[in-house]
Amino acid sequence: MPSDRTSGDRTPIVSGNWKMNNNHFEAIQCVQKLAYLLQKDDFDAVEVTIHPPFTDLRSMQTLIDADQLRLKLGAQNCHPDDKGAFTGEISPVFLAKLGVQYVIVGHSERRESFGENDEFVARKVAAVQKHGMTPILCVGETLAERESGLTLDKVKVQVRSALEKRTSEQVKSMVIAYEPIWAIGTGRNASPEDAQEVIAAIREEVASVVSRPAAQAIRLQYGGSVKAGTIADIMRQPDIDGVLVGGASLDPTEFARIVQYRRHAF
Ligand code: PEP
Repeated sequence: MPSDRTSGDRTPIVSGNWKMNNNHFEAIQCVQKLAYLLQKDDFDAVEVTIHPPFTDLRSMQTLIDADQLRLKLGAQNCHPDDKGAFTGEISPVFLAKLGVQYVIVGHSERRESFGENDEFVARKVAAVQKHGMTPILCVGETLAERESGLTLDKVKVQVRSALEKRTSEQVKSMVIAYEPIWAIGTGRNASPEDAQEVIAAIREEVASVVSRPAAQAIRLQYGGSVKAGTIADIMRQPDIDGVLVGGASLDPTEFARIVQYRRHAF
């Protein structure tokens, strides 16, 4: 049964994943423009997180602090350990120190290109929460899995393995992004109804693995080629609490229109 976002306390959350784009100078320009386009009302209605590359985080933290912006700073990844011999990796301790509040964990590009498995992703979820930040756990199926009818099996296993050692209170504050891999960066969307069906199943899985209150409270995003023209129909779905946006978040005008979906939707 679909839950009702309006009756819960699930503030919509729109997240911009810049991937490996925007050096720290470009990042400053992008955020200044975004901050100019977004109004108080937008931030009252929607939580907005930006996830620049690691090398931009310090500049972003300074800008957000100095201009008292209501954008929340996010990272795209971290290592599960606090410190050690992990050349090239970034500790969650360092991210917390930089004022990072959200960390994307288990993005399909990391699972597919860097061999991250469910067990490693689960360790990252725990590490992010250990340091007071919120994980945005990404789950989703390949096109072959979808065509074989394996979508729900795949995402349920991903959800279960990331959450089974978490407490109900820990899971309540988390975010899960359902990102069908075939829709990321391809211009293809899952239909809002298909996304709702999978996301409702994810919520049921959270209820079964963790607790019903956790399932009611956790925020669930859709991600995959979201644009200003498509978000309104996505956000009308009762279980979808937000979106994780890649390509379209690089253009501040487009991303601001996505955040402002209410103005052109309802
Ligand atoms: C993503 O990177 O998580 C993503 C959803 O990308 P895009 O919006 O470009 O499909």
